[in-house]
Amino acid sequence: MQIIGHRDIRDFLLKSAAEGCLAPSYLFVGPRGVGKSLMARWMAQCTFCSSSGERPCGGCSSCQRMESGSYPDYKYAERLVNLGAKRGIIGQVREIIDDLQTMPYEGSCRFFAFNEAGALNEQSQNALLKTVEEPPSHLVLILIAESLGSILPTIVSRCCVVRFNAVERAELADALVQRGCEPQRAEVLAAISGGAPGRALQMLQDERSWAFRLEVLRNLTQLPGSDMWEALELALSLEELVPSKSAAKAAAVEEAAFQPDLSGILDIAASYYRDAMVLAAGADHSEIVNCDCLDALAALAQGRGALGLEKDLRRINEAYEHLGSNVQARLWLQHLCLGLTDA
Ligand SMILES: [Zn+2]
Repeated sequence: MQIIGHRDIRDFLLKSAAEGCLAPSYLFVGPRGVGKSLMARWMAQCTFCSSSGERPCGGCSSCQRMESGSYPDYKYAERLVNLGAKRGIIGQVREIIDDLQTMPYEGSCRFFAFNEAGALNEQSQNALLKTVEEPPSHLVLILIAESLGSILPTIVSRCCVVRFNAVERAELADALVQRGCEPQRAEVLAAISGGAPGRALQMLQDERSWAFRLEVLRNLTQLPGSDMWEALELALSLEELVPSKSAAKAAAVEEAAFQPDLSGILDIAASYYRDAMVLAAGADHSEIVNCDCLDALAALAQGRGALGLEKDLRRINEAYEHLGSNVQARLWLQHLCLGLTDA
């Protein structure tokens, strides 16, 4: 199991595990996809690994069973979903709390990682609080959340809080290249993901999200200098990238993979125009997200100027507001594309 980035956190946890002084409760906090869940598993694997050398070794029986998800003393709960009156969330939390009392089967302790703990309501968090206050001696509980504010302060104050920051862009890009990604694409993915390896890897594996981005950018780069009819055609071409609601629903049932949608088009447009704004302001190229479009961005920055780009970004932000309204997507996409050309 290879963790991308977070060297300081790994060193801290490894030292605690080696010295046998792991805290009874941890709270891992940081952005989605940054590597919190993976770190919880890695921490357990380091503890259970039987190697006398570097841990985790990846080769011993404990490591192999941790990798395959069959080690009995590590449990991971995904975000809980309400399954009706008989299997409500609070009921599931109580079942988990009962399970936490079970003694380890073969390890020195039991790990329990609770993903999206911040999504639990106050009643459920209060139920967990009792375990955090008086933890069984064999337990290491890891609560995982995107923000501290989503967890009851009474729980936060009893946990060892570990904050996960975005992974450095260069480090993430290098890790993607090591996984077979082409270098320029790796740089773009590292930037677009905001330093979250989980999101970058997901985009690397799903070719459709990359193809969607390229197609949206292809249309956007044709907008400057277009006349009214060309702008309307480009709006139509953008609209056609998004399947109808019924088709999207059917596809979503088939697999929970990437689904192109209108907000995705706006996200790409917003990041592209923000990049042009950065160039127009004369800032460093290292700030650019869409670094595979530098020539087109430079032309856009020169053609629109900082003031024009500010207006463009405002137009894109206004378009976000239409996403939830009843205005037809076709109309506001046309309005947006006409605005971005000033046709
Ligand atoms: Zn091992």
